[in-house]
Amino acid sequence: MIHLISKKIAALATVCILLSACGQLQSEQEKNNKVTSSNTSITAPAVTEPASNADPSNTEAEAATDSPSKTIQEPEANETEVIPEFQYHINKAYNVVPNEEGIDKKVVLLTFDDGPKEQEMVNGLLDTLDKHQAKAIFFVNGYRVKANPDLLKQIHDRGQIIGNHSWDHIDLKKENSDNARKQVEDVQQIVEDTIGERPRFFRPPFGSGNENLHKIAEDNSLIYMTWSNGSLDWDSKSKNKPEVVIQNVMDQLHNGSNILMHELPWTVEALDELLSKLEGQGYSFVDPRAISEAPKEQ
Ligand SMILES: [Zn+2]
Repeated sequence: MIHLISKKIAALATVCILLSACGQLQSEQEKNNKVTSSNTSITAPAVTEPASNADPSNTEAEAATDSPSKTIQEPEANETEVIPEFQYHINKAYNVVPNEEGIDKKVVLLTFDDGPKEQEMVNGLLDTLDKHQAKAIFFVNGYRVKANPDLLKQIHDRGQIIGNHSWDHIDLKKENSDNARKQVEDVQQIVEDTIGERPRFFRPPFGSGNENLHKIAEDNSLIYMTWSNGSLDWDSKSKNKPEVVIQNVMDQLHNGSNILMHELPWTVEALDELLSKLEGQGYSFVDPRAISEAPKEQ
């Protein structure tokens, strides 16, 4: 009798173990299913990168530091994201125009200058851009990147585009050639050191440039632009008045508007409504990665 009971207990225990193991397996499976896409990016780089990487000395460090951040920063949306083909260029009036007939002209380019400054403002801009599935150029200053490298990484990791706005935000027209070049090239370097790629776009502070600055931009494969629609968010009349920022942009709105904004609290506040209004009027937001060099005949 005792023997029989102990056998039953043993059988029950086995069932319990099997069941709980099964439960664990199932929940593991569920977890795996949920993170399948990011799991592939955990394992894939660690296994395949060293084999294909041209510089073996860096591979281990890269695999070790890159993989975790990739898995955190790469939501599923990025997996299907396709980098657009070149469809637009910046013309001499600094508008965004199609490279060919048949491409949508009713577009605007969103730009934010003078950051990255503060986490809260950067979050606000990034969240609103995401909400509207919009891409923008963040024209950054080198001294700000040096102070806030993590903010630059966040902007980049969330799919926005980094532009070069010189190191110190000084009037480059007043600098000698060597200083002006250093102001531009030091930013190219710190951005590459921070996010792994160099900016493709350059905007001089105050829109103040000359032949020499155009040459420096060209030497660095930078697409040069000022803007064609100033939100005047920097002006004292706009301070704490998001509605004024919105109105200024809407008053100047035209096809290909290259909209100048800044990392400022009232601009952050204005952005959601501004983007809704632009969409409401039928404009879409150019992905800066679709902007190429201007055709040579220009
Ligand atoms: Zn500026």
